[in-house]
Amino acid sequence: MFEKILIANRGEIALRVQRACKALGIKTVVVFSEADRDAVYVRDADQAICIGPPPSAKSYLNVDAILSAALATGAQAIHPGYGFLSENAKFAERVEAEGLVFIGPRSETIRLMGDKVSAKQAMVRADVPCVPGYTKALSGDPGEIREMTQSIGLPVIIKAAGGGGGRGMRVVYDEVDVVAAVAATSEEARLAFGQPDVYMEKYLRAPRHVEIQVIADTHGKAVWLGARDCSMQRRHQKVIEEAPAPLIAPEKLSEVGQRCVDACEAMGYVGAGTFEFLFENGEFYFIEMNTRVQVEHPVTEAVTGFDIVVEQIKIAAGEKLSISQEMVDSRGHAIECRVNAEDPKTLLPSPGKITSLRVPGGPGIRFDSHVYPGYVVPPFYDSMVAKVIAYGKTREEAIRRMRVALSELEIEGIRTNIPLHMALLHDAAFIEGGADIHYLEEKLKREREAA
Ligand code: ADP
Repeated sequence: MFEKILIANRGEIALRVQRACKALGIKTVVVFSEADRDAVYVRDADQAICIGPPPSAKSYLNVDAILSAALATGAQAIHPGYGFLSENAKFAERVEAEGLVFIGPRSETIRLMGDKVSAKQAMVRADVPCVPGYTKALSGDPGEIREMTQSIGLPVIIKAAGGGGGRGMRVVYDEVDVVAAVAATSEEARLAFGQPDVYMEKYLRAPRHVEIQVIADTHGKAVWLGARDCSMQRRHQKVIEEAPAPLIAPEKLSEVGQRCVDACEAMGYVGAGTFEFLFENGEFYFIEMNTRVQVEHPVTEAVTGFDIVVEQIKIAAGEKLSISQEMVDSRGHAIECRVNAEDPKTLLPSPGKITSLRVPGGPGIRFDSHVYPGYVVPPFYDSMVAKVIAYGKTREEAIRRMRVALSELEIEGIRTNIPLHMALLHDAAFIEGGADIHYLEEKLKREREAA
């Protein structure tokens, strides 16, 4: 096992990784920007190194500074968390080249999955169900584009191979627009991601977002840990997630889960990963794979009893997976609410000082957060300040416990989206389960219009 791990992240996930390290008796090195000097995980670290000014480009994305910190402190491995450098194949490669362990898949796998065209090709090879369309980059030839559009059938979506964060996509409803849409998306992709390749697939009108958690070791063994539903989204950002995904036939789920396991074994996948699918009319359609731990991993931990971050570390140290597929058992239901520092009406970020804080508790409640009374939410990063996870024997019990937890949670000094969560926890469609990915945006739009 490692003696010392460097945590190349900030906020709640830095604290989450640090907790896993402590539980395993591993020392932690924390790197931080000038804006995060007072963080709790900085104070708790065995060693902490300031790597630059607040903007991420100068600190959390500063590969040279992070590698120097790792080498200077004698850290043997780097945990990248999520976001920042977690899916950056060049960073993983630099870590490997320094003789350190990147806690995640091999850099080649990150590269393969980071390009949506090559990722989709790998899924087709492994028999993972994909969105109907073409698994190749478009040449730009108008005849070919029109032919593809006709064979897929309108509406279609043009997507950038190198896209991410919900950017680099265009939906086309009318064939006369398709050639121009391809050119515009490609040009946008070239500017934003330095990669002009685009591809075309069927646009699904009202799908759910359902994802499969996998974990694989360096000995060629993979297991899947059930599904999560993350359909409650605003601007392609997940707001509430839950496990298991409600109202899906268990046989269908096992079938897709097994395909994901087969895909992992075929590509020599290592570590934790998530296969993201759109789910419509009872069918799964792969959209992308995330090669890192997800924000919403705690709901899977709650229903499986498995510590995903601890497993990531053990796997990176070369240990064999301690569980087999037969041992994976999902019990009860878990829901996660992402609490963001944002104005509940305008939805704009609301950074500033948290003047007082009351944290929720009680049976089945988990509160993952790095904030404390007096903490200043910096304006430079993601606005998430806490994750509240509620577990219950049933989905209904999880919802009831979450309502109590959110009524206890008091964060003064900044505005938060707690009212939005409360409204959803009382919303008939959410309570029923299985709402599609457009539901939340449409609900908010209706409310704006009614106001
Ligand atoms: P990103 O890497 O930017 O998150 P994804 O491929 O995961 O890109 O797609 C982001 C979102 O775009 C999806 O969650 C879904 O809302 C929408 N989307 C992507 N592909 C399709 C599709 N074929 N049909 C309908 N919606 C889609």
